[in-house]
Amino acid sequence: MLEEWEARRRILELTSPGSVIWVPLELALDQVIAQDVSAVIDSPVFDNSSMDGYAVRAVEAATGEQLKVNVMVQAAGGDLGVHCASGEAVRVFTGAVIPQGADAVIMQEDVERRGDRIEILEGVEPGENIRRRGSDVCAGQKLLRRGEVMTPARLGLLASQGIPEIPVHARPLVQIVTTGDELVEPGAPLIPGEIYNSNSPMLQAAVSKAGGIGAASHACDDPGELKEVLSRALAAADMVVIAGGVSVGERDYVKEALTDLGVITEFWRVKVKPGKPFLFGRHPDGTLVFGLPGNPVSAYVTFSLFVAPVIRRLLGHEVTEGTAGLGEVSGIATEVMSNPGDRPHYLRGICEGGKIRLSGTQQSHAIFGLSRANCLIRLGPEEVINIGDPVSGFAI
Ligand code: AMP
Ligand code: MG
Repeated sequence: MLEEWEARRRILELTSPGSVIWVPLELALDQVIAQDVSAVIDSPVFDNSSMDGYAVRAVEAATGEQLKVNVMVQAAGGDLGVHCASGEAVRVFTGAVIPQGADAVIMQEDVERRGDRIEILEGVEPGENIRRRGSDVCAGQKLLRRGEVMTPARLGLLASQGIPEIPVHARPLVQIVTTGDELVEPGAPLIPGEIYNSNSPMLQAAVSKAGGIGAASHACDDPGELKEVLSRALAAADMVVIAGGVSVGERDYVKEALTDLGVITEFWRVKVKPGKPFLFGRHPDGTLVFGLPGNPVSAYVTFSLFVAPVIRRLLGHEVTEGTAGLGEVSGIATEVMSNPGDRPHYLRGICEGGKIRLSGTQQSHAIFGLSRANCLIRLGPEEVINIGDPVSGFAI
């Protein structure tokens, strides 16, 4: 059985960032930028007023002086080409181009207006209340580096440069395939022996959360149907994630179906709990195939450990064999946690304010505890964590 790190190393080895596409800024939030971006213009683009007031020649605008107000008014918008002659002030508003001849703006609160004249109540220094061209960004300056994540403010920065779209790695299309005769879609009635399909919406949402585009289909435990559903999934998607049917039960047809469809199984079974029957394979056309155990908790844990990192790498995030889930978490244990087994055990936990506790029943069908958890806590084989010990794991 493969060690967990080795399994992730082998999966990541076959994964590189997806093709580069250009997306409009409106669709770029949280995406990883695929190339460096440099400024194309200075910002501010021209010297402009940071206040509502009067543009003046600072030497003429000492306290107590009087100036004649030019008949033209320069607001933000088109440059009217106003000239501020000696002995004059020009009415300006925030964002306005600085009139020629002026070298400062005096706030309107610092003057007394009398007809076509102003009296200076508080003098100004040269440059005061002027936002200089290029004082924030100079043309040619690097604005964003490859690998950085787009935030609202970074989108605003690019928009301020007049850049309408950015290069990112295409989001992978991930087809979830659930399997099992016992499964019914939520909303339909249950007959005795049936259960609702929880993996389908859960894994689709997990795909979205990791940054991929999720879709889902279902196959009963019938080799013919399974092959047909998987064949369509392989044709359509970049990644196929199958839930259930990968164990050793007589009705676990997934491995056989994948082989018939030409998928090469890279490995099956990983030394981790929950999630031992995890399978990874590859279709010759490049589609990556993941087989997860059917139990919802096991499915979610193995998705977090082995599938989410792949989606994140395809999107251009920095991912190594030590990376899982949505990033690392650590904290101090507030209760005793133990793993008597010989495989690493991922327990569902709640990390809050630097403290970590368990989120209830830890069995692999117990989806309530999973729903309360915000992290997976890793306990090595035979490890015991006492109250006050440091613990670490991954965010989910
Ligand atoms: P399997 O891996 O197919 O043997 O399934 C293991 C357990 O997980 C069984 O109890 C299944 O009923 C359950 N299971 C499998 N798939 C799902 C699913 N999509 N939603 C909820 N439970 C599931
Ligand atoms: Mg099954």
